[in-house]
Amino acid sequence: MFSENTKKAGCIEVICGSMFSGKTEELIRRIRRAKFANLKIEIFKPTIDTRFSDEDVVSHDFHKIPCHAVKDPKEMLKIADDVQVVGIDEAQFYDMSLVDVAQELANRGIRVIIAGLDMDYLGKPFGPMPYLMAIAEDVRKVHAICVKCGALANYSHRLVNDDELVVLGEKEAYEPLCRDCFNKAMEKQDNPEYSGD
Ligand code: ZN
Repeated sequence: MFSENTKKAGCIEVICGSMFSGKTEELIRRIRRAKFANLKIEIFKPTIDTRFSDEDVVSHDFHKIPCHAVKDPKEMLKIADDVQVVGIDEAQFYDMSLVDVAQELANRGIRVIIAGLDMDYLGKPFGPMPYLMAIAEDVRKVHAICVKCGALANYSHRLVNDDELVVLGEKEAYEPLCRDCFNKAMEKQDNPEYSGD
């Protein structure tokens, strides 16, 4: 895809966006195509993400593919010893060591496809994601639809009051918002008197 180099096909691809933007669906689409090509594949996700299932990467449209739940990214180096493609879902929950692990996997000649939230609920870059985006050969931002105005949504606005960085949940905990609606919602949260909506 990226060069005529036939020695090593290693590369890093990042798929990122807000909640409900279709990141995992896009990861699964790429993994399926690799499966059709009979490539050897391993898929990982952090152990922290226990939604629905311990063994599957599960997307919101219930397409699922088997994967390893792995706490420390370094475990991927051992498990993905003899594969051509590695998929990593919910990468924002890993620590910074994922950046070196992704590099090492790609340097081995592996195509590394990483999906994750680019921003946390405050609109700040999330965990290792900005670094992964910097070292990737290819970055795809996918978008949800703003539930307030219908524009493309970049932000995952948290609907529950909780200062924890990691709150797992589905529609009841987050809503996708565009820049303008996110800024208004955050301003409203900071000043309950605010009436500029
Ligand atoms: Zn909006």
